[in-house]
Amino acid sequence: METKPLIYDLTFEELVEWAAEHGQPAYRARQIWEGLYRKLWASADRFTTLPKALRAALDAEFSFSALQPVTSLVSTDGETHKTLFRLPDGVQIETVRMRYLRRRTLCISTQAGCAMGCAFCATGQMGLLRNLSAGEIVEQVLYYARWLGERGERVTNIVFMGMGEPFHNYDVVMRAIAVLNDRRGFGLGARRMTISTVGLVPQIRRFTREHSQVNLAISLHAADDELRSSLIPINRKYPIRELMAAVDEYIAATHRRVTFEWALIRGLNDTAEQAHKLAVLLRGRLAHVNLIPLNPTDGFVGEPTKPHEARAFCEIVRAAGVPCTVRLRRGIDIRAGCGQLASKPPREVGFVLK
Ligand code: SAH
Ligand code: SF4
Repeated sequence: METKPLIYDLTFEELVEWAAEHGQPAYRARQIWEGLYRKLWASADRFTTLPKALRAALDAEFSFSALQPVTSLVSTDGETHKTLFRLPDGVQIETVRMRYLRRRTLCISTQAGCAMGCAFCATGQMGLLRNLSAGEIVEQVLYYARWLGERGERVTNIVFMGMGEPFHNYDVVMRAIAVLNDRRGFGLGARRMTISTVGLVPQIRRFTREHSQVNLAISLHAADDELRSSLIPINRKYPIRELMAAVDEYIAATHRRVTFEWALIRGLNDTAEQAHKLAVLLRGRLAHVNLIPLNPTDGFVGEPTKPHEARAFCEIVRAAGVPCTVRLRRGIDIRAGCGQLASKPPREVGFVLK
């Protein structure tokens, strides 16, 4: 098992400190940072511009890789790709890359498993194994950034919508975002990143105080507490009224539009009644609704809503003046869709890459 610290766990300032401890000026840290996050180098021996002793120290003191790819699958749509990684302690996570027009979006995991136990979600069905470190989050991005880089492309967007609840690993996710956002290195704009949360109210309030430019999405899925609590256990702790109060504070402080996610489950939350309740809940708010027909998971018997029913639901919401779109379901054949990520590779098809 790898015991050296992962270099991607360090912030720029920490790397400057490390260089200073080795008697090196700050510009050496900057060279390392650029090597890691602009040139996307994955081992110490690539840093040939550094003095030999410093390169040797880098090699001796840090790990440059915690993620070992186990399997990669590409969807029959050709646009969605998923990799299962093993971490040094044997825990496994998944990361998804999607191509849509000019976007190259990565769907990143923040925890191995999830403690929130949402009924319809494969990650929730497996429970929480552990939090990821900031470096383990960052390395998922670097893995695909290198892959895209070899093809003359770049990561354009990151969504923290893979395995785990990002606000249940708050500090670590913020640290990873700071590393990825840092202009001296990877430099991905905060507005190109989105955090999706199940609705942890104290963390939403904390996020509001950060005045971050990172987009916020809320997994709502039901417009009354009875239905929402039956699908999303944490709703008992943070019911809709409290959740919406926190969202209102966020909107008032940031003037940023919030996305509300809604997985349409046939006969359960796709009724006209739910659509009307949702419209009432969001009317007049700076909001956008993203509908997605349920993706299948082993531990939940619900069916996805049919496309024409999804459109009808969407129309009711729109009629109240709330922007609403039905999202494409992507990568279902390789279980790379929302809520389908788990620690095991899918049994069924998709083309296995090496
Ligand atoms: N924990 C965070 C982010 C990860 S889940 C959250 O819950 O928001 C990413 C999105 O997929 C969430 O909106 C989640 O509710 C949704 N999702 C989970 N299971 C799903 C499923 N089976 N079908 C469609 N969407 C699902
Ligand atoms: Fe966790 Fe999100 Fe899945 Fe709920 S939907 S179990 S919060 S990953």
